[in-house]
Amino acid sequence: MEILKFPHPSLFTICKEVSVFGEELNILLESMFELMTKSNGIGLAANQVGLHYRMFTMQGPEDEKLFFINPRIISRSSGAANIREGCLSAPGEFVVLPERSTSVEVEFQNEKGEYQKRIFSGIFAVCVQHEIDHLDGKSHLQSKSLSRQIRRKLAKKWHMK
Ligand code: ZN
Repeated sequence: MEILKFPHPSLFTICKEVSVFGEELNILLESMFELMTKSNGIGLAANQVGLHYRMFTMQGPEDEKLFFINPRIISRSSGAANIREGCLSAPGEFVVLPERSTSVEVEFQNEKGEYQKRIFSGIFAVCVQHEIDHLDGKSHLQSKSLSRQIRRKLAKKWHMK
C-alpha cells in the first residue's frame, strides 16, 4: 500500500459504498491507519491508496484510532474554520478553504458496520470534510472557492486539468 499523489486518477474517482464488513475490511483500515501515522498525516481516504470504497481513517482528538465507513455530514456549523489544510497526496501544499465549517456532525459506520454519530470541531472537522471530498473524487486544490488564478497555478504545479 502506498500513498498516491496528484494527479493520480484514483484521486478523481468517486468511491462506492461499503456493503461487506468483516476481517478483510478491518485489515485494510488498520494498514491505512498505520501508513497515515507513519506519513505524519491525521487523515487518509481509501482512494489515496487506490481503494475505491467510501472509507477513511483519522487520528481523533484524543489520539484515537478512528475508522469512518460510508460517512456523511448530517449537520454543520455556519462559521468557517479558517484552518490551513494539507494533504498526503500533495505534500507541502496548504490552502485555506472558506467553505470548511468549524464544526460538523458526521454519521458513519464502524468496522463492524454499526452506525455511529460524532461531532468534530477545528482541525478534525476540517479533516472530515477534506476526506469526504476525497471520496467524492474532489481535490481541495481545485475548490471553486479558490480564486481562478490560484486554481490555475495549483493545477499547473500538480499537473491537473
Ligand atoms: Zn487529502
